[in-house]
Amino acid sequence: MPFADILGHERIVEVLRRSLRNNKTAHSYLFEGIPGCGRRKTALALIQALFCQVLPDDACGACPSCRKIAGGNHPDIHLLAPLPDKRDINVDQLRELQRDLSLRPYEAPRKACILEPAERMNVSSANSLLKTLEEPPGDALLILITENAGMLLPTIRSRCQLIRFAPLPPEHVLTLLEQRGMPPETATLLAPMAGGSLQRALELDNEALVTRREAVLKRLSQLDITHIASVFDAAEELSGNRDATLELLDMLLSFFRDAVHLGAGSNQIVNRTVRPAIESIASCRSFPCNLELLETIHETRRAVQRNANPKLALDRLFMNIAANV
Ligand SMILES: [Zn+2]
Repeated sequence: MPFADILGHERIVEVLRRSLRNNKTAHSYLFEGIPGCGRRKTALALIQALFCQVLPDDACGACPSCRKIAGGNHPDIHLLAPLPDKRDINVDQLRELQRDLSLRPYEAPRKACILEPAERMNVSSANSLLKTLEEPPGDALLILITENAGMLLPTIRSRCQLIRFAPLPPEHVLTLLEQRGMPPETATLLAPMAGGSLQRALELDNEALVTRREAVLKRLSQLDITHIASVFDAAEELSGNRDATLELLDMLLSFFRDAVHLGAGSNQIVNRTVRPAIESIASCRSFPCNLELLETIHETRRAVQRNANPKLALDRLFMNIAANV
């Protein structure tokens, strides 16, 4: 795939393309980020660009090499992952890789390997990988994919160029879901709840979320500071364990982010299917006030993550929202 298909990581793509143009790609990279944010896609795009027979810093998509990579059958690319039913990538897999990388490439300028998840190596496989990184056989390119670089041996980390992937903004998750043929009403529901991960978006339970979203919007519209029971009842009904409360806060974040967008005159909202409800959030208080509430929801989310009591945190948050109508 060409780099243009990588969404949300423009700076990273620019750095990689520059290194391709200058013939300065590293021997080994460490791609760190949450699963589903585009790490493997970017790794494949980098290899495809490196192998492309037509373009110097991107994949043309049409030459034999680009076509083989798109079809998943290029002989010079290795994908290393734990074997089925195994937790770790084992040392035999690493030894075999090392043997193979030391052979001449079949048709590409160099061999390439994607190792994922790189944190799933036991001591002997990690040591074997270290040997490969210290003395890269041939001109091989290694890309390690991990959720947390801190879980790898420092000696492995220091031999790789670290590239950090941020979670995807919801609008990019939305585009990716729609590209996969998901109906827009489902995609707009799932995208804001996915925490920046396409994979997570695909795992979410869409029907449960529709019901939840309706309940949340209804409670929000009923919040009334002169009728304090409306505040405590909302917190009581909508709070749950920590994970459920974090999910609720993600939903509120996406509502208020959209309301701020509308307030700023932008039409770029993700909750398009419940637009009237978002419009009413936007219009019942001032723009600065919605902006401030957005920050308050962020703070509440951080507090709940740090172990604050979910119910009390929501009491306070809903009080704040109700007081600012
Ligand atoms: Zn090509």
